[in-house]
Amino acid sequence: MRNDRCNRREFLSHSGAGIAGLVSGQWLGGATTAHAQDADVTPRDPDLVVFNAKVYTVDSRVPKAEAFAVKGGRFVAVGRSDEIKGLVGKKTQTYDARQMMIVPGFIDTHNHGRGEVLLYNVLVGNPFDVEFVTIQSIIDKLRARAATTPPGTWVEGYFFDDTKLKDNRPLNAQDLDKVSTEHPVFVHHRGGHTGFYNSVAFQRAAITKDTPNPFGGTYDKDEKGELNGRVTDRAMATLSKAGTLESFSPAEKEKRVSNGVAFISKKFVQYGLTTVHHNEPGVLAAMQEQRVSAGLLHRVSYEPTGDLLEAMIQNGIESGFGDEWIRLGATYEHTVDGSFSERTMAISRPYIGISPPYQGNLTESQEDLNAWAERVHRAGIRLNCHANGDVAIDRVLTAYERALKLYPRGDVRPKITHCSLINDDLVRRMKALNVVPSEFSTYAYYNSDKFHFYGEEMMSHMTAFRTLIDAGIVPSAGSDFSPGPFSPLMAIQGMVTRTGWNGETWGANQRISLEEALRVNTINGAYNSCEEAIKGSITSGKLADFVVLADDLHTVDKKKIKDVQVVRTVVGGSTVYQA
Ligand SMILES: [Zn+2]
Repeated sequence: MRNDRCNRREFLSHSGAGIAGLVSGQWLGGATTAHAQDADVTPRDPDLVVFNAKVYTVDSRVPKAEAFAVKGGRFVAVGRSDEIKGLVGKKTQTYDARQMMIVPGFIDTHNHGRGEVLLYNVLVGNPFDVEFVTIQSIIDKLRARAATTPPGTWVEGYFFDDTKLKDNRPLNAQDLDKVSTEHPVFVHHRGGHTGFYNSVAFQRAAITKDTPNPFGGTYDKDEKGELNGRVTDRAMATLSKAGTLESFSPAEKEKRVSNGVAFISKKFVQYGLTTVHHNEPGVLAAMQEQRVSAGLLHRVSYEPTGDLLEAMIQNGIESGFGDEWIRLGATYEHTVDGSFSERTMAISRPYIGISPPYQGNLTESQEDLNAWAERVHRAGIRLNCHANGDVAIDRVLTAYERALKLYPRGDVRPKITHCSLINDDLVRRMKALNVVPSEFSTYAYYNSDKFHFYGEEMMSHMTAFRTLIDAGIVPSAGSDFSPGPFSPLMAIQGMVTRTGWNGETWGANQRISLEEALRVNTINGAYNSCEEAIKGSITSGKLADFVVLADDLHTVDKKKIKDVQVVRTVVGGSTVYQA
């Protein structure tokens, strides 16, 4: 079935062991699970039995259960406590869940990882939750770093969020001049599409207030027409020559990357994530190393770019290559416009309260985009573009429509990362191609302080889970970490309430039910990478990835879902996190 990328696996029926009431699931065979067919699939003498739980399976055939059994890293039976306990053998571990809620492991379909940054760089904001900081605290942290940094080398701060400042004014170049007059200083907005620089950086890059904006970016000015320090999208690249980067020996670099992978993996499972789609070049080797040394605790869909993508194209390696732990996914997000949180996305109407009138940055021409999509799709690699604004999504769909028409390949599920501002026409075109959108997951809660730049009318079409689901499209949850925190429970809270940390509700028409939000964060994530046959629900035959939650999300106050404790995270039947 060469022409159907996502459905070329074959299924074998597996009928349990004849115990009435067991969910007889499907056992996956075929290329993706080389070991599955050899495995002992009888549910007797399982490795683990979990009972006395409120199991929300996210399997529509049997949505609720009390217990399940795990063997060889997979669910082998799901049903009532008395039935499943009957399977317990001599070597079976048992776990009394004491009526806690159990759901499939959460899946984040867009994440930049950045464990190395978290471990070794200056963090000027809180990566994981809403927290306000002062400009002075940023200056102090960067000054301390500058004191140990050779002049001429960049001093950088990460996880800055311009709307989480106690000062009630923007960070500017003069603030960063207080850090150093010998070092170029660069504060990265956590959104990744804007940076804040000191005067040394501009001088060394020979950029003045008179330098014209380059294609796809801006040097922002204050009321007097002076550079204010903020630089957007493609203009940031023009400042890179202003300083040298901290350098490391190959061995040191390898160690940092590897430590970073282990660090972020621990963090992911702490929040209940069991699969993450990584947009993080250069860490594949470290992931494999950590996997061998048991430091990789979550499953990876690795989204290639640069040399790796090129090597795949040149050597006939398609999306789906790999195994149940590390698999090559769609491409890295191919960027077509700016950012939602930093208000640089390409939209068809001007932003509110920004003058002169501004409609965001498009960062790629239609011709270049068409050529890229054609080449990648032709190589059997799943397309994935970053497009936030309606103008950018239109361009991406134009390129996808063209590529899929030139080389029809059945159900390839081209991906759009963010896919934030939609309209009826875009939805119709997405449905026609079976586009899988990876929508911002935690923004409704975390970034509600930024939605006034768009206004209620636009927000009613933004991160539009309700519209997408009603149209029969399968949206998944993409935190985009570092831009958004990656907590799936924060994401679910935002999806069901559309209310932010500050109490503001935007686009309430896009609310979805808790059941739908659970699907978005589990099975829809599996569908996004064409892996719904092996993960995303608690179903016999699927990988035993699940999360134990202290409280039932159905009964807690909707505005406190994000605070529910993750008690235990299990991947492939092994506990990888315990509170
Ligand atoms: Zn991203």
